[in-house]
Amino acid sequence: MEGSVLVVNCGSSSLKLALYENAEATIPTTEATAERLGTEQASLTVSGDLEFQTSGMMDHKAALTAFIDAASTQLKGLCGIGHRVVHGGESFIDSCVLNQSTISDLKKVSGLAPLHNPMNLMGIDLCGELLPEVPNVAVFDTAFHQTIPESTFLYGVPYHWYEEYGVRRYGFHGTSYRFVVGETARRLQQSPEDLNLIIAHLGNGCSACAIRQGKSVDTTMGLTPLEGLVMGTRSGDIDPGLIEFMSQTTETSLSELMTVLNRESGLLGLSGGLSNDMRTLLDAESDGNEAARRAIDAFCFRTARQLAALSTNFTHTDAVVFTGGIGEHSGVIRQRILAHWKNIPYRLNAAFNEANGNENGRISEQGTPLVMVVPTDEERMIAQDTYRLTSDHD
Ligand code: ADP
Repeated sequence: MEGSVLVVNCGSSSLKLALYENAEATIPTTEATAERLGTEQASLTVSGDLEFQTSGMMDHKAALTAFIDAASTQLKGLCGIGHRVVHGGESFIDSCVLNQSTISDLKKVSGLAPLHNPMNLMGIDLCGELLPEVPNVAVFDTAFHQTIPESTFLYGVPYHWYEEYGVRRYGFHGTSYRFVVGETARRLQQSPEDLNLIIAHLGNGCSACAIRQGKSVDTTMGLTPLEGLVMGTRSGDIDPGLIEFMSQTTETSLSELMTVLNRESGLLGLSGGLSNDMRTLLDAESDGNEAARRAIDAFCFRTARQLAALSTNFTHTDAVVFTGGIGEHSGVIRQRILAHWKNIPYRLNAAFNEANGNENGRISEQGTPLVMVVPTDEERMIAQDTYRLTSDHD
């Protein structure tokens, strides 16, 4: 399809933009990152076909306006804008073109992600205002997981919480999983419908997913992205009783405790505040830092336990796939995770693992259960959906 597509990821104080030249493009021609928006220290950095930097007091609108003004040549022939939207509730099982009706449905589910969806909606509104002729598409982190069966998505809590308040597991990172399933199938020269996969997306946020015949049937994140694996700063699974215990024992409010569980836990908390960044922790560990070792060990064990639990969703697993910053780049972490998974003889090939995969992404020994590294690309997936949906509507 002709024309370019702009991918927009609008966060509370950041804005990320990526411009794809055509439907086949694998990398963006121009990218922009704006940070610390709404403060005097705001900055906008544009790279690729167009390069410039500006800083000083800027809000989201000012940053987007600056980009649009400077990129008028690059934006000629723009045929669609794809927006990352965190939560689509049960209303969105696929990406969709935004119009009055879908925006109103989106607003109805946005209470499920009060910190994220309003920011995503702001990005959508701004594009509607500044580029009014161009159709907008929403791509949801949750949509891919809408195939998870009821027995798996329900919590063991009063059922009317689900009926009245939508309390259930939704799962996130869906755009990443969808990309990785497609890419894994391509590398294995198989159809996604023929594949059972366990995918570990290990980045700052971490989750894992069971894919049965190409569809998500179970994932570790839940109502919010706090559930599941130990992450950079999020706790992952905890005993809910811990919250009352800590609240009473330390006289801490619920909102303060939630801040700790979201921002001061995970690798950061386990390492006693040393770092949320796996590279930093691995460096510290090799210098003999015990706090770093403790955090990494807990991360690896908990990840292995969840991967093993996900494997109960099918009788055989075609491949375990690692993705995300840690999953794609750290052979040591992959090896330490799999070493905990004792009932299946995953055996890594040291050279393949060190190289983050052979030519097909394989990291396990030939003839042993398949383990792969498949880099994710959520922006490209959003661009592809935008092409698919805007060409449907031509
Ligand atoms: P996000 O979830 O924000 O997209 P990424 O997927 O980029 O983040 O993942 C960031 C994490 O990946 C950080 O913990 C970082 O330390 C880790 N990481 C990146 N490269 C390496 C590496 N070579 N070895 C270990 N960890 C790495």
